[in-house]
Amino acid sequence: MSFSNLGLSNEIIRAVTERGYTEPTPIQIQAIPAVLSGGDLLAGAQTGTGKTASFTLPLLHRLSHNNVKNTSNGYPAIRALILTPTRELAAQVELSVREYGKYLKLNSMVMYGGVSINPQKRLLKGGVDILVATPGRLLDHVQQGTVNLSQIEILVLDEADRMLDMGFIRDIRRILSLLPKQRQNLLFFATFSDKIKELATGLLNRPKMIEVARRNVTAETVAQKVYKVERDKKRQLLAHLIRKDNWYQVLVFTRTKYGADRLVKQLGEERIQALAIHGNKSQSARTHALEKFKNGSLQVLVATDIAARGLDISELPHVVNFDLPNVPEDYVHRIGRTGRAGASGQAISLVCADESHLLADIEKLIAQRLPFEVVAGFGDNSHSQPKPIANEPKHKSKDSKRPISSAAKPVPQKSAKQSTPRTATGGKKSDARPGASRRSGKRSR
Ligand code: AMP
Repeated sequence: MSFSNLGLSNEIIRAVTERGYTEPTPIQIQAIPAVLSGGDLLAGAQTGTGKTASFTLPLLHRLSHNNVKNTSNGYPAIRALILTPTRELAAQVELSVREYGKYLKLNSMVMYGGVSINPQKRLLKGGVDILVATPGRLLDHVQQGTVNLSQIEILVLDEADRMLDMGFIRDIRRILSLLPKQRQNLLFFATFSDKIKELATGLLNRPKMIEVARRNVTAETVAQKVYKVERDKKRQLLAHLIRKDNWYQVLVFTRTKYGADRLVKQLGEERIQALAIHGNKSQSARTHALEKFKNGSLQVLVATDIAARGLDISELPHVVNFDLPNVPEDYVHRIGRTGRAGASGQAISLVCADESHLLADIEKLIAQRLPFEVVAGFGDNSHSQPKPIANEPKHKSKDSKRPISSAAKPVPQKSAKQSTPRTATGGKKSDARPGASRRSGKRSR
C-alpha cells in the first residue's frame, strides 16, 4: 500500500515522501479514503499511530480541491477547524499541517491561550484556511468577533476524550452551535467511553468507524519496576537512581503542579538539571523546557499528566512515576512513552505506603504484578503483602475487551533528538511562537 493508492494529490505525496514516510500506517490506510469521500468519521487511535496525518492529509487534499469564494465581510471565513485539548498538541498538529501542506496554497494558524491575543487577530484578519485551536481561546475570539466560523467545511475534534476529561464539553457545544450545519465531522479519541458515545451521537452523521489497537504497554521492551520507598525519601532515591546509572532524558511525572516545581528545585539542589512543564507555566517556558529536553540538553523533565498529554516525546529511555496517578489509565499513557524500537526502556514507579491502593488499581488494569525492589536506606517495609489479582495471569489490557477492527503497530519513531520541532524554513524554533504562525507568501485568496 502506498500513499498514491489512497488517492492523495501529488503535492501532498511529495511532502510526505520528503518527510521520510514510505507507506501509510493502518489508521491512515483506513481513515484517508473515508475522509476523502466526504463522510463523517469516528476514529479510535492513540498518539504514535500516525493519527495526525490520517486526518491532516485528506483534509488538505479536500480543501485544495474545493474552490470556494469567501463571501464574508470583515474577518475572512475559516474553512477547517481542528480542536485539541492542549496547547502543545495544537502547536504540533499545526506544524504537521504546514509541513504536509507545504506545496499547497493554503494558510494555517495555531491559536491558544496564555499568549497575547492581538497577533492572533492580525493573522485572522489576513485570512486563514485551517485553524488549529484550543477551545478556550477560540471562544475568546468568538466573543470579540474576531473569528469567522460561518463557513467551516471540515471540523476535527482531536483527542476528544481528553477534551471531555478536561471539562471542555460546554465550550465544545458552544463552538458547534456556531458552525454551519452542512460540514464534515471527524472525531478522534484514544479511549472510548459513554461520554464519547454521547458526543458522537449528537455530532456525527452515519460515521465510518475505525479503531486501531493501542500500543502494547506490557511489551518486553518496557521494563516496569516499582521501588517501595518512604514518602520523604522519594527525592533522594530518584537522585540516587539518576546518578547511579547516569540516566539521561528522564521524564518524571508528578501528580500536582506544585509537586513538579518542588521536585525541580530539589533536584537542582542535588545538581541534577531539571525543568517542569505544567499548566501554570508560561507558554514560552513550556516550549523552552520541551525543546531542551528533546534535543538532549536537559537531563530531567518533570511533568503533570495534562501537560505531557499529546506531546511527541515518546521512545524515551526512562519514565519515572514520582507519584502514582490517581487514574490507573494514566499509568498506561505515561509508560507508553518509553520503549524504543529494538532497545529497551524503563518505567519506574516510586511508591510509598499510602499509594498501595493506587498500585493495586494499576496492577488490576494491566492484569500484571509489577516487580518491586527496596533500595537499602530508602526502603519502606510497611506495605501490606499484595493479594493475588483476580484472573491473573491473563496479560490483557482493558482495551482488549473491546472489538478492534485492525491491529496497528506503533509508527516507528524518530529519536527524541530528531523530532525537535523546526520551522518551515528548517531552522530550529527558538521559543514559543506568539500563538500564531503561517507560511509566508502562500495565500489562496
Ligand atoms: P501521531 O500518531 O500523529 O502522533 O504520529 C506519530 C509519529 O509518526 C509522528 O512523529 C509522525 O511524524 C510519524 N508518522 C506519521 N505517519 C507516518 C508514516 N506513514 N510513516 C512513518 N512515520 C509516520
